[in-house]
Amino acid sequence: MRDMIKILVILFLIISLFFLPQKTEDKEWIVNREVVARKPFVIKEPVDSTPIEKVQNRIDIPTTTSDWWKYPDVIYETTKSGNDLLVLVNKQYKLPSTYAPSDLVRASNSGIRRGENYYLRNILIPDLTNMVNDAKSSGIDLSIVSGYRSYQTQVSTYNYWLTKNNNNVDYVDTFSARPGHSQHQLGTAIDFSSSEIGDRLGDTFAYTNASKWLIENAYKYGFVLSFPKGYESITGYKYESWHYRYIGKANSTEMINSGMILENYLRTK
Ligand SMILES: [Zn+2]
Repeated sequence: MRDMIKILVILFLIISLFFLPQKTEDKEWIVNREVVARKPFVIKEPVDSTPIEKVQNRIDIPTTTSDWWKYPDVIYETTKSGNDLLVLVNKQYKLPSTYAPSDLVRASNSGIRRGENYYLRNILIPDLTNMVNDAKSSGIDLSIVSGYRSYQTQVSTYNYWLTKNNNNVDYVDTFSARPGHSQHQLGTAIDFSSSEIGDRLGDTFAYTNASKWLIENAYKYGFVLSFPKGYESITGYKYESWHYRYIGKANSTEMINSGMILENYLRTK
């Protein structure tokens, strides 16, 4: 009887040993089959997400840092001529003190209100004329409260703000450009206002119908917002709802379609 049990145990062990490797093989095969079976799903995914929304190259995400207004330690001269509509002028790149556009004309040539007080580059006058007229047709009043600013004017302006604010450089750097760093030296930057706020310059413009209209339409005429809300750490300036820069219709359309803000768009050029 004992022998019988011994034989049975041995037989059981032999049988078990025979099955063990096969089971392992089975398992691997199942795993492989699962992998094979999953493959079509992995491939299918991008096919299934057929583009319904417009695909954009890049979308700028607002970021915040605590010292966004500061100038970098190293300052360069602009890499393009000031005449180039796509020249990057910011806190890192400044225009030469000698640069001034050669085609400055009175802004009033476009028909914009208060234009007799400011100069702009002639190259943008036809598009500005169309924009002012189309805005008017939609019941929107636009006026200009700043245009071309010479290097020398920037020196006076920056010093004025410093004196007025007890030489608080950090504070003044949040809203006033140092000489050569202002887009206004290009003759293509405009500060807009409206009769809605008595032609005042500043934050209240953001709540006007004129501002809402410009946000929707300005790019169709080649004008884009330079310092949008929430992008202080990229532009180095607080939100300026009134400050637009002319870059030409083809460029502004490309910029809007790319989802980039002006600062990053110009860095790609
Ligand atoms: Zn401005």
